[in-house]
Amino acid sequence: MKFHPADSIQDLQYFGEFGGVNPSISDSSTYTFLAAKSMLDTFEGNLEGCYLYSRHTSPSNLYLGQALAAMEGTEAANVSASGMGAITPTLMQLCNAGDHIISARTIYGGTYAFLKNFFPKFNVHTSFVDITDLEKIEAAITKNTKVVFCEAVSNPLLEIANLKAISTMAKKYNLKLVVDNTFSPLSISPIKLGADIVIHSLTKFINGTSDTVAGVVCGSNEFIDSLRNVNDGASMLLGPVMDSLRSASVLKNMRTLHIRMKKHSENAMYLAEKFEIDGLPIIYPGLESHPQHDLYKSMYNEEFGYGGMLAFDAGSLEMADDLMELMQKRNLGYLAVSLGFYKTLFNAPGTATSSEIPVEEQIKMGLSDGLVRFSIGLDNNIERTYQEMKKCMQEIGVLKVLSETIN
Ligand code: PLP
Repeated sequence: MKFHPADSIQDLQYFGEFGGVNPSISDSSTYTFLAAKSMLDTFEGNLEGCYLYSRHTSPSNLYLGQALAAMEGTEAANVSASGMGAITPTLMQLCNAGDHIISARTIYGGTYAFLKNFFPKFNVHTSFVDITDLEKIEAAITKNTKVVFCEAVSNPLLEIANLKAISTMAKKYNLKLVVDNTFSPLSISPIKLGADIVIHSLTKFINGTSDTVAGVVCGSNEFIDSLRNVNDGASMLLGPVMDSLRSASVLKNMRTLHIRMKKHSENAMYLAEKFEIDGLPIIYPGLESHPQHDLYKSMYNEEFGYGGMLAFDAGSLEMADDLMELMQKRNLGYLAVSLGFYKTLFNAPGTATSSEIPVEEQIKMGLSDGLVRFSIGLDNNIERTYQEMKKCMQEIGVLKVLSETIN
């Protein structure tokens, strides 16, 4: 059966306490009780509908969590102060000392650094594999493996994980499949493809206004409750709580996510097709030349397209830098990390968002230093943007140099 994540968000209805069309913001860190006994019951999780302290939970955070759980088709969700504040407690909750993780090798640099440099301090070790190679994943499983971690669409190389096949394998070996879906909200629904837990950096497309960092973990009631457990819940005890004022604003921005995702995808597809014809080695899952194009097509919620991210190799870091500086000067976007903004953002991930990955590893995974990653914005006239970007590429010599190498 087809899943319609945007409809699920839309079907939720909540009013503010005075009948406001937006839920009221809970502007308190702590809550009063008329009866002392109710406080104890709430603390022990035996009383529904009461709030105790905003690190535990707050009405605003619960509302946003509900919308995100509806979007991913999970029972529950726990919002956090950043994407990393969602990823690290999840992995710490799932693993004990001595456990092993299998992770895709192309992932966000911060997640890579956590798995490679930080988690070993607690004797949790990670094998990094090519996530598009199912045999390599299976070969990496050991008796201590607990988790397979990947991004549905990888940062920055836009490799696509075969979530159905990986989840089947994970179930066979009793492993949890944790998927970071930051690059493909609405477009890919990992739970529907068999994943156990889905994570987002809300900082990106979901919030969409580049004004905050935020994150979420979506999963079963049992798992989300375990993260929030006052005695041993990693989210509760590490404390990366989202502020209520922020969760209220992220929820309001989520109301337009479906419209924005369609436009990001439409604009990215337009540029990818045009620049591919011009001879640029464009990486975009919507292009038939993308190695996992058919796989993406078999997994996606069609109405939201192939997403707003694209990349290509400008030939060298110098060319990439010159191009990005010129495009920014011409107001075609900003030379900035992050993604999902109304304006196009670009950076060279080898020296920025993936710089935590050692250069030898970057080379192995095919991350060249001339790679430019684009988060395509919501430009109204994308043909005009294309013409202006093409001029920049010609002026810097990116188009000419690349077509000469191709010919
Ligand atoms: N996951 C992905 C795919 C990301 O790109 C990022 C940040 O760039 C993160 C997680 C971390 O999110 P945050 O910066 O909100 O902590």
